[in-house]
Amino acid sequence: MKAQLIATTLIVGGGAVLLWAIQRAKNDPVSTVGPEPTSSNTQSFLSSLFFQDNNAMKETTPQATPAKRFYLSSRSKNRMSGVHTDLVRVVERAIQLTQFDFGITSGVRTAEEQNALFKKKASQLDGYSKKSRHQTGHAIDFVVYDENGKVTWGFSYYTQVSLAFKQAALELGIAIKWGGDWVSFKDGPHVELDRTVYP
Ligand SMILES: [Zn+2]
Repeated sequence: MKAQLIATTLIVGGGAVLLWAIQRAKNDPVSTVGPEPTSSNTQSFLSSLFFQDNNAMKETTPQATPAKRFYLSSRSKNRMSGVHTDLVRVVERAIQLTQFDFGITSGVRTAEEQNALFKKKASQLDGYSKKSRHQTGHAIDFVVYDENGKVTWGFSYYTQVSLAFKQAALELGIAIKWGGDWVSFKDGPHVELDRTVYP
């Protein structure tokens, strides 16, 4: 029992010193602010520990990884055939700025294609009495790939990619609307040219 108690005390005491050491290393590895060690030997031992650690980290920790570069696939490009060139320019710039990869799933649609989506309840526009911006080449839909390259429908990913679209549009002076900003029917995968500028 007594040996156990001593062992426990040593472990707890050692743990406390280690925690203090970690904390000190994290906060300020150079200054002497913080509780002083009980002896100069402890101090030099801990100092060597910190500085060894710091040096090791400098050598092995990679620098902040540069932002990944993404490219439009030929399938994405094909799907934009017939889309207004200003919107294509925005897409081509957005793929260079985006934090997450994306692909184009839909560009121009015929009235029949739009009506099929309406019947599937995938759109509120029937293609005849209510036309979609897709029918006139003023809209595209995109799909986002997450950090593992998998298709995602998580709205936050679409918000992230929309920032790239908005930045691209700003740079090019082309007015766009992101479907995710709509209040009544949020359409995260949809981007279109602003009606007020591109009727
Ligand atoms: Zn759309």
